[in-house]
Amino acid sequence: MKLTIGCLYPDLFNLYGDRGNVQCLKKRLQWRGIEAEVVSFLAGDRVDFGKLDILAWGGGSDRGQALSLGHLGKVRQDFRGYVEDGGVVLAVCAAYQLLGRYYRAEGKMLKGLGILDIHTEWAPGRLVGNIVLESPFFRTPVVGFENHAGRTCIGSHTPLGKVLFGKGNTGNGDYEGVVYRNVIATYLHGPLLPKNPEVCDWLLERALKRKYGVDVALAALPDTQEIQANRNIVERYTSQDSEGILKTGQESGHSGRDK
Ligand code: GLN
Repeated sequence: MKLTIGCLYPDLFNLYGDRGNVQCLKKRLQWRGIEAEVVSFLAGDRVDFGKLDILAWGGGSDRGQALSLGHLGKVRQDFRGYVEDGGVVLAVCAAYQLLGRYYRAEGKMLKGLGILDIHTEWAPGRLVGNIVLESPFFRTPVVGFENHAGRTCIGSHTPLGKVLFGKGNTGNGDYEGVVYRNVIATYLHGPLLPKNPEVCDWLLERALKRKYGVDVALAALPDTQEIQANRNIVERYTSQDSEGILKTGQESGHSGRDK
């Protein structure tokens, strides 16, 4: 078995080491004896979505987003077709915003791909800090780091998770991210996947099932260090009672602000 992982415009979207997500996808395939090929598409390159199993697209500045618009216009149709066909995508921060209808930043309207029925508005005061989510898609809380000025309204889309600590989509500490078909769109940098191996395996499993059929299952990996690191973050930013039941920042009385 083999998966091809695309990395979209790393020359324009390269904040916070999001490329680490690509390395994590690759490594967790290789550890299971599955071949992985990584293909980077620089701005202006032709993207053949038909050859892709997973597309990773990282965070970037408002400037990088503006510079990408012409290129995105050319891949709009194929990108949408890939997503609707069950293509796997991880879109972080600036990429999350551009999957939506628009990102309006200080008077400038950046038209997105419109694959997600969401929109983002810039507002003063960046939403920066560690963030912890409880997600119905994962047993383990999802941890990461957010840094965005955009506030994203996700309408009727399904969020990735509920914010236990941090700011999230709109800054009110309510919900974070979107899961749509085989797309995870989120504000969580980290890079996200090394900090949350379960999220990585969700993407890999979806891609393998799409390519090779429904009965493909990933072998378990020990993940001792990864789970310990994740747990440390969760314990630092949330509180757990003696039964290990998670209490949210909100429930335990603090405002969800970084400690
Ligand atoms: N430019 C966007 C914002 O500030 C995205 C930033 C990012 O990718 N970290 O909202």
